Amino acid sequence: MLEIRILADPDEDDGSGRTVEVRLLARPRADEDPLEDSRLFAAGDRDRIVAFVAEMLERHASRLPAPALVCCRRCERAFDPGAESERRRPFVCRTCQRTAARNSRAAAAPGPGEGLEVRFLGTGDAFGSGGKRQAAIFVRAAGSRLGLLLDAGPGCHAALRAEGLTSDDLGAVVLSHFHGDHYGGVPFLELDAMKNGRAEPLRILAPPGAEECLATLRECLYRNLPLRFDEEVRETLPGEAADLPAAVGGGFARAFAARHQPEAWALSWKLGLGGRTVVYSGDTGFSEELISESAGADLLIHECTSLEGLPGHTSHEELQAAASRIAARRVLLVHTGEDVLGAADLAFERAHDGLRVVV
Ligand SMILES: [Zn+2]
Ligand SMILES: [Zn+2]
Repeated sequence: MLEIRILADPDEDDGSGRTVEVRLLARPRADEDPLEDSRLFAAGDRDRIVAFVAEMLERHASRLPAPALVCCRRCERAFDPGAESERRRPFVCRTCQRTAARNSRAAAAPGPGEGLEVRFLGTGDAFGSGGKRQAAIFVRAAGSRLGLLLDAGPGCHAALRAEGLTSDDLGAVVLSHFHGDHYGGVPFLELDAMKNGRAEPLRILAPPGAEECLATLRECLYRNLPLRFDEEVRETLPGEAADLPAAVGGGFARAFAARHQPEAWALSWKLGLGGRTVVYSGDTGFSEELISESAGADLLIHECTSLEGLPGHTSHEELQAAASRIAARRVLLVHTGEDVLGAADLAFERAHDGLRVVV
């Protein structure tokens, strides 16, 4: 075991900025006392910190365990000492990951009339972990006048405005289930639509019970407020597909069963729009159906609420175990809880509020 820790040490400020303590901890064998060495540095003094670490490694080299170095499989220049022992997926360094993401974005840039723009308005869980907004993802086909919203968590109307959009830019809202963090923003979209004097219908695709759930929520938040535009609610069962309005580019949204609440409907959705396929998990326990439905999809947006198991949700552990079978071209994690937000080396890319991708 070899550890090099760099610790913030604000109590030891030496007048040149924040101080850090660099500490080497090594345990050559389980039955031996650990080696320890440490020194204080000004936080920005990178050269002296690097020189100190090199000096410590050299001084203790004869007693340190030989590191199991694994090369980046793309460039072979960067090393990941922990990759082998922790049985991680084949290691790719951050520089190569960034280059690959840049290349795939450039390759996927749509021509006129095809391709999708996906804007992540809200990528957080129900608890606002990391200060992130609740579920809302705006999807628009290239060349289409209107887009659609995948889920409509509270605050989605404000998030749309922050992106220079309003409910006027929506032709459809596709809801995964009736938990507040996924549909609590619908009454505000309705209010916004009425303020704007919306003339065209807004199609809402949602699990069975949608009419009643939406009417009840509206009545709780704005009593006796009649809708003054045409809202077409299409209640959809798992296995059914619904047409998307022509103004969003036609195409379809097909529902399949999510494993979220035993007593109520929850759906995952597969969109065929703008010549692309996007699969959205909504909230769900780990689902083999999602893995098979997303094979060959241009984008899989998958919930990842926690690092380890949580009933009704998917953990990073489960996604990592299934990584070799996930065959979507790009995977982005949403509905991320505090532990996922704090983790390094995730198996897939983590989406964040404000992220815009083109597939
Ligand atoms: Zn949720
Ligand atoms: Zn939920």
